[in-house]
Amino acid sequence: MNHRAGLDFVAWIDDVPYDEICLISHQGKANLYLFEDSVFGLCFNLTLKCNSSNCDFVKAFSTSKKFNKLNEINLRIVYGLRLIGRGFSAAVKLSKMAYRSLEERILLAATEVAKKTMATAAQEVKSLKNSKENVTRCGESVDSTWQRSGYSSLNNCVSVLAIDTGKILDVEIMSQYCRT
Ligand SMILES: [Zn+2]
Repeated sequence: MNHRAGLDFVAWIDDVPYDEICLISHQGKANLYLFEDSVFGLCFNLTLKCNSSNCDFVKAFSTSKKFNKLNEINLRIVYGLRLIGRGFSAAVKLSKMAYRSLEERILLAATEVAKKTMATAAQEVKSLKNSKENVTRCGESVDSTWQRSGYSSLNNCVSVLAIDTGKILDVEIMSQYCRT
């Protein structure tokens, strides 16, 4: 077990009432052993077992919370790396396939949140302008950013902000790369 899992274990043990662990009934002389059952990325599945005679204390636990059967810690590390612009090579504990699969899940969630947030922002401008029309006129600020610096990127992202609220109303990905 590496240091990271050790830290997670200490965090876990802090959350468990001490009377759940047999240590007290042995007056601090329990033979507790920690086993590593399996590892999924940054998540360790561990078992704490007591080898004292006449004691059947055993407790299996995971160092990560679960989210839809996924280990939350792996989802979080991929999300964090994406936020700082790093790819799967920075996530040394995850395979390329695992990284991509987690990215796809994050994409689904991020798309849903972005759509809802932009719809709410548009509604906010509409309310501010007291508009009863289908189309509301408002001041906008349009800016874009390239995927890479150095004027060689084929991908660009354009965003439109409402002047009145400073919130993003729309985002469009522009690409000069054609798959077909
Ligand atoms: Zn025990």
